[in-house]
Amino acid sequence: MNRREFLGRVALAAASLSGCASLGTRTTPDSPPAQARAPRKVVILGAGLAGLVAAHELTQAGHDVTILEARARPGGRVHTLREPFSDGLHAEAGALFIPSNHQLTLQYANFFSLPIRPNPPLSAPGLFYVRGQRVVANWGPNVEWPFDLTADETKLGVGGMWEKYIGAELEGLGDVTAPGWPSDPGLETLDRMSVAEFLRSRGASQGAVALLRVGFLDLVGDGIDSYSALLMLRRFALRRTESLRFSITGGADRLPRAFATTLAARIRYQSPVVRIEPGETSASVVIGRDGQHQRLTADHIVCTIPFSVLKSIDVSPSFSPQKARAVDQLPYTSSTRVYLQFRRKAWTSERPYVTATTDLPMKWVFEHTASQPGPRGILEAQATGVDGRRVAQMGESDRVQFALSQLQRIFPGLSGDFERGVSKSWDEDPWARGAFAYFRPGQMLSLLPHIVRPEGRVHFAGEHASPWSAWMEGALESGLRAAREVNETPPAAR
Ligand SMILES: Cc1cc2nc3c(=O)[nH]c(=O)nc-3n(C[C@H](O)[C@H](O)[C@H](O)COP(=O)(O)OP(=O)(O)OC[C@H]3O[C@@H](n4cnc5c(N)ncnc54)[C@H](O)[C@@H]3O)c2cc1C
Repeated sequence: MNRREFLGRVALAAASLSGCASLGTRTTPDSPPAQARAPRKVVILGAGLAGLVAAHELTQAGHDVTILEARARPGGRVHTLREPFSDGLHAEAGALFIPSNHQLTLQYANFFSLPIRPNPPLSAPGLFYVRGQRVVANWGPNVEWPFDLTADETKLGVGGMWEKYIGAELEGLGDVTAPGWPSDPGLETLDRMSVAEFLRSRGASQGAVALLRVGFLDLVGDGIDSYSALLMLRRFALRRTESLRFSITGGADRLPRAFATTLAARIRYQSPVVRIEPGETSASVVIGRDGQHQRLTADHIVCTIPFSVLKSIDVSPSFSPQKARAVDQLPYTSSTRVYLQFRRKAWTSERPYVTATTDLPMKWVFEHTASQPGPRGILEAQATGVDGRRVAQMGESDRVQFALSQLQRIFPGLSGDFERGVSKSWDEDPWARGAFAYFRPGQMLSLLPHIVRPEGRVHFAGEHASPWSAWMEGALESGLRAAREVNETPPAAR
């Protein structure tokens, strides 16, 4: 994509956003719950985006809402780091990008008047560090990759290979956002395959599999041997209409904070839920704080706690066996991100911004400060899967030194400008226990139907309970869906 096309896409995306604003400047996005016929008492577990949007819409609909949040802040996995950086710089520990087809995220950012800015498109020429070599390349044809590709694959380039091996399969998936998807039993074969098996079965050479996994397919779970090909295909299907990626200027946490400001009186921070008591006409939760326990009973509970945390919470009477299995078995991707501050952005002499994709343990390098003022810059190096867990086992200063040594291989001479670093392991976070949910081969068909289904008066939301899993869009979509479920459930007979 050249600069003209890039600016054209920015203009188009801006026009579609201002179009939504013109419906009435501060509209709420599509399909909020209708005004409550009978106001209910609703307790929401978690003040991440799923819990916040559910609380926002249920409050608007006239319900009596309380949010219980274990942390001292809102936002959960949307978390902007401002310490220990200089000059007011910041970096994202969690969510960063908003793809242009994530309508709910863009519309809520617009609703709260948060400025957004476009990021360089993913298809722009990027820096790869693979097999010990630096390659500056785009996804186009005839790139000299240090991989053993067939003549046809070299001619196709990365983009062409995506189309050939993956794009061709998407038509047969149906609407991946439809409730109850995947209902077609024919998709079971794809679910049982790992991504690596799928690529090989579609004729990809060993070299092509090795190239396609770098920095992208390997960022989920423990890499391409570990997760369902059907999950990978769903992720691609949802990217079909994406043209650009945006970020919220000033930090992604401005979105959850905006929700939390409007809901301030309803959020109870530092209130970890230790027990859930589902019921058919009401449900209760117990908060454990400073050795004290407090029970709250409500007409409905909306649980947005990640299953990785929920599986250690006492549930009595227990969930159905299918739900309990889904909670217990749903795996989460390990991610350890290390942020390094440099006194100057030496890399700008070569490239205006940095995104590097590598086959090193730190698989992805990204500059968080490309549009932040001042001479200093922050580069992030991210390790996921097995490497993410290995880096997480190191002490804080070893993590920083390790990330610096990896960056030094990609950008020789960089370490002379290094000032300080900090890291975030999502596995270690007691209220996340992982970065985002994924499915091992065979799990999509067996677990997916049971993730969303309510258990009596307990409803479920969160990125894990949405087709847009691993995105803010998934949190918002599932939170709205759970809010509608609450609103549409007939009141219990008293
Ligand atoms: C490394 C990383 C990179 C990402 N990149 C992007 C990106 O670029 N773009 C994008 O759109 N998305 C991205 N995401 C995904 C996005 O951040 C999540 O999908 C979304 O924020 C999840 O929201 P949620 O409400 O479902 O869960 P959470 O944000 O996890 O909210 C759940 C809340 O429940 C609370 N909680 C947990 N246990 C308890 C308990 N016992 N009692 C009370 N409260 C509890 C937690 O503290 C938390 O606040 C990324 C995530 C990670 C981790």
